[in-house]
Amino acid sequence: MTIRPIDIGPFKLDGGAMFGVVPKTIWQKQCPADDRNLCDWALRCLLVENGNRLMIVDTGTGDKQDAKFFGFYDLPNGKTLTGAVEKAGYSVNDVTDVLLTHLHFDHAGGAVRYADAGRTTLEATFPKAAYWSHSGQWDWATNPNPRERATYLRENFMPLQANGQLRFTDKEDLNLPGVDLLYMDGHTEKMTLPMFQLVGSTGQPRTVVFCADLIPSVAHVPVPYVMGYDVRPLLTMDEKTQFLNRAVDENWLLVFDHDPVYEAATVERTEKGIRVNEKGTLTELL
Ligand SMILES: [Zn+2]
Repeated sequence: MTIRPIDIGPFKLDGGAMFGVVPKTIWQKQCPADDRNLCDWALRCLLVENGNRLMIVDTGTGDKQDAKFFGFYDLPNGKTLTGAVEKAGYSVNDVTDVLLTHLHFDHAGGAVRYADAGRTTLEATFPKAAYWSHSGQWDWATNPNPRERATYLRENFMPLQANGQLRFTDKEDLNLPGVDLLYMDGHTEKMTLPMFQLVGSTGQPRTVVFCADLIPSVAHVPVPYVMGYDVRPLLTMDEKTQFLNRAVDENWLLVFDHDPVYEAATVERTEKGIRVNEKGTLTELL
């Protein structure tokens, strides 16, 4: 099995929203903000080659909403997921599985696209793929609470149910050798973190975990650095604590969805708590 991170960012999000209760005087040293208080973030997806399966994890924002909507995020930036898949030597028809960690617009937007230049008909971006979500996350996205309503855009995922490509990881086995799934409920209900058993560069087994929005960047490794978007921030802190302890004990390599510089990092115990150890590209650290 091989994993290739694909960053189809940058896009911009409010620095205050990304760091929750952490003061700007502290976070701006790591993430400088522009005059609108926006910082640059990656839109990192994964391309996973596993036997005769080709899986994509998360799909970025896509391009279905209007210019005003994307203007808030400094999009479009000229990069697309389908362009990246083709650059990797595949066509959209080769993708067998799409795992959506959750259905927020910056993770699920690229799952569905307009089929026509007139932008009237929607279709799955990957016509032959099974699209995987958790039924608990799906229920939240399709009956959204007032706090998450603006990020669950029905056009991003409803066509997948209508055309029969939707599958639920809690009802059916993803059945990919060397891939396990972790579920977290602090950021949103039943966010999925895929965990991969790979072989490291020196031949040793290595666990790689895609952190989704549990730990979106290197700057979010310290437990109190919880995004303002999270629906259950205290639960996120518990989940991060348990997750990071396992990451140290089992020498996990963590991959970040939104870090604008670093694809991946390892973590270590320090006097102040668990902190980043090595950081770099996935290939460098594997
Ligand atoms: Zn999210």
